[in-house]
Amino acid sequence: MTDSQPKFALALHGGAGAQKGRSYARAEAHLRELARQGEQMLAGGATAVDVVEHMVREMEASGLYVAGRGSAANNAGYVELDAAIMDGAARNAGAVAAIRDVKHPISAARTLMDKTPYVMLAGDGATKFAAKHGLETVENPAAYYTLPDGTTEEDTQTETLSHGTVGAVALDIHGNLAAATSTGGVFGKPEGRLGDTPINGVGNWADSEVAVSCTGVGEYFILSGGASTITNGVKLAGDSLEKAVWRMLDDVQSLKGDGGVVAVNKAGEIVMAYNSDGMKRASVSSGTPVMATTFAPCR
Ligand code: ASP
Repeated sequence: MTDSQPKFALALHGGAGAQKGRSYARAEAHLRELARQGEQMLAGGATAVDVVEHMVREMEASGLYVAGRGSAANNAGYVELDAAIMDGAARNAGAVAAIRDVKHPISAARTLMDKTPYVMLAGDGATKFAAKHGLETVENPAAYYTLPDGTTEEDTQTETLSHGTVGAVALDIHGNLAAATSTGGVFGKPEGRLGDTPINGVGNWADSEVAVSCTGVGEYFILSGGASTITNGVKLAGDSLEKAVWRMLDDVQSLKGDGGVVAVNKAGEIVMAYNSDGMKRASVSSGTPVMATTFAPCR
């Protein structure tokens, strides 16, 4: 590739809650296929924000990850979902938190971003907003929600903050960045618990230089500043993307938290890093072929 050829880049994650010894083959195959789709979309001129929303919708619908269909109930017995999207080109954002029975929380976040001056809605207000805008709802929660790939019923009963999330970051051929992240949160969470995911600036971020999607125990990402710490590392401290990502993840680790990050910058560099057992992930760019893995070392 020469410098004059249009650059694009895409990185996806299916959560950093992966545990050694388990197989995530179905999720990896799915991520690989999505990366192929994303490659075609981006090479064809699709915008980063459309691509990341599409990637996350597919992951939400698949039931393979702890997001959308694969989400587990909170300890009061019902599912609450969080999602955030950010369009770096427009510096616009939308997020929904503790939304209920919406098939695609990420599209509720996108609709909020596109159609209103607000950037975040929570609880009943978010659920009513999605209904008002005709977004697909879950009619029969007991039949719809399912166990994600590699997860057992026991995992969903735990209060040890077992977790998962999905996310996508992209650079499009027009030079714009976007990020989208969606989660069912941590298993065994109390009603109303929010992690980092619905907070643009912590679990999700995109501006004109960097796009970031985080996964991990959200409490620690909030305490470490998450995506803001990464983007400030790049923009204010002049760190490489990789250094900025590890600075934040090492801080999460120092607090005894774990998780991971996918990030891309305006040069099309991709970083996929985690300090947990593994992170389901995939990437592709105008300069590198599609790859998908969970446990390959990242440092
Ligand atoms: N960050 C999510 C949360 O804390 C969980 C995860 O990414 O695994 O809700």
